[in-house]
Parts: sequence; C-alpha cells; structure tokens
Amino acid sequence: MDFSCVAFHTNCLSYFTISRLFYRKVTVVSLCKRRCCHSGSSVAVRGIHMDVTTSAKVKKLSHPQNLLDGVHMFIFDCDGVIWKGDSLIAGAKELITQLKSMRKQVYFITNNSTKSRAAYLKKFHSLGLDNVDAEEILSSSYAAAAYLTSIDFQSKGKKVYVIGERGIEEELEKHHIAYLGGESDKNKVPDMRPGGKVVQDPQVGAVVVGFDRYINYYKIQYAQLCLSQNSECLFIATNLDSVTHLTDAQEWAGNGAMVGAIRGCTQKEPIVVGKPSPLLINDVIQKHRLEPYQICMVGDRLDTDILFGKNNGLRTVLSLSGVTTMENLLSDKNKILPDYYIQSVADLLSKNI
Ligand SMILES: [Mg+2]
Repeated sequence: MDFSCVAFHTNCLSYFTISRLFYRKVTVVSLCKRRCCHSGSSVAVRGIHMDVTTSAKVKKLSHPQNLLDGVHMFIFDCDGVIWKGDSLIAGAKELITQLKSMRKQVYFITNNSTKSRAAYLKKFHSLGLDNVDAEEILSSSYAAAAYLTSIDFQSKGKKVYVIGERGIEEELEKHHIAYLGGESDKNKVPDMRPGGKVVQDPQVGAVVVGFDRYINYYKIQYAQLCLSQNSECLFIATNLDSVTHLTDAQEWAGNGAMVGAIRGCTQKEPIVVGKPSPLLINDVIQKHRLEPYQICMVGDRLDTDILFGKNNGLRTVLSLSGVTTMENLLSDKNKILPDYYIQSVADLLSKNI
C-alpha cells in the first residue's frame, strides 16, 4: 500500500488514531474514509509520508512501570513537557512527587538561557512545584558558566563578552566570572562615521552567545572583534535552537539566529554547551555513578531533547504535549526516533503506587 497518497482530514482523525494506523495498515483507507464522511468536509491534508520501518520503531508507552523499573534518573525538558508558558501541564506535579517517593533522581534541563537557575526555581515554585531544588535545574545559562569554570577561566584574569540576557549574567556572577556586554549594550550604536570604530577589550577571552531579544549591530561587531583579534578567544553558544516560542501565535527566531550572525562574520564554529551537547549532564552522570541506560530523557523536541538523549546513550521519551506533533514524529523526513512517545507526562505515572 502506498501511504504517501493517503490523505487525512485533520479535524476528524486524532493523533491516537493515526498512531494506531501503522500497526493496522489494512484499515487505514477505510477508517479515514469513514471518519471523513461523517464530517462531510473536504480532505485538507495530504499524506503522512512515512516508511514501514519508521512505523515499527515508534512505540507508545503503554506500561510505564516497565520503564520506571529500569530507570534511576529522569531528565525532563521544561517548556512543553512540565509547563506550557505559564500553565502547569496536568500530572507534572504528581509525577515529580511520585518519582521522588520512588527515590529516582529528577533533573530539569532547558536550553532557554534568558533565566538563571535561581530564576527558574522561582518559576517552578510559582507553578506549585515546591518540591524542586535549584541543583536539579540544568539551564544552558548555567552550562555556559559551569563550562568556563571547568576550564579554570577565572584564574586567567579574562572576561566574557555576553550576547544574551540576564540569565547568563546572573550565572556568570554566581561563578565569579567577569563580564561585559549583555544588558548594558542593548541600546548601543557603533560609531560608523568616517574613522569611526568599535574598540574591544583585549581581556575578553570568551564570547558567550545566548538568546537575546536586544541583539544589535554593536554587539555583533564587538563579538566579531573579540573573536578575530583577541588571542585564543572562545566562542561559546548556549544552544542552536532554530526557533523558540515567545508567544502562542507563531514560532520565533531562536538562538540559532544569534549564533548564526557571529558564525557568519567570524567563520568560526562555537562550543555548544546546551542540548544536544553532553556537557550539561556529564556532571550529574558522574555524580550519581549511573550508566546512560539507567537515565531517561523526556522532551518535546526531536532535534534537541531526543537527539540529546540518543547522542548520550540515554533512554528517550517524546511527549506530544509540546512542539512536536504525531505527524512530525511519523514523517519520513524525521530520522530521530524516541524509544517511546506519550501524550503528556501524566502517561508516566505509575498505577502501582
Ligand atoms: Mg521543550
């Protein structure tokens, strides 16, 4: 059967139904036709392009206890998994409480660098997740500061030039790393009159690029000068996310845009400290002396969360409560397959307690 020519009506075919189709291929056309007929409206979406090999590898998590028994640490992405915007996703608090009562390690990981760990903790608490500690939050802003600390950046007397927001600055302050740029450069305009120039501090030994709603030409030029002229200046990216979700109306350009600007004018490749890089979890894996297969990554993005898990040998669960749809998951363009998918974290709750 050629699945590429099967057309589905989005309003009359649920994701759950679509997922079942690939295990009951013979019923695809009749099921679709029957449901479309009930609606009486026209076919709107052309086929979900997917090969049979992909379908066989995508599994819904039907028995969470089997996963819970073998996993000692759960790492959760935040937005789209634990919360959406400022709304807690149903079942998240109960799951965290349950996992902790089972003595599982629980961590939260986010590529959003605009907040520090302390600021994230306030968000957890504001949503009623008062059983989360700051040490359990792994943000890419923290990862940048932790990486610089791991290479003993402070002892060299160097500074960081920040393209990014307050979250990176707060983490650098907490790690006693000197910095400039960031919030203080958000309104600066370079002197481009004849003879005009930007003069960079030769003590800048690293440029950290995170999501920055106030990025401007002055910051780009400053970073370009540091990376081109300062000896051994590091280029660090908190993450390379192509898009982000600032509002629920559309996708917005993510930190990939900011990193791309600096990459474009320096021809240099960054050290990426957020997902899918392993830098964020190396410490916690070593601290708890776990094997990667004893750790499960739960996320809503294939190209960061699930890829992060797979790159590091972790078990992976995709939650469809965020940016990834069942159609994205099953598309034959998608080569990143989680071990399991769930509708939301509520599907991870054990019924044996
Ligand atoms: Mg997410």
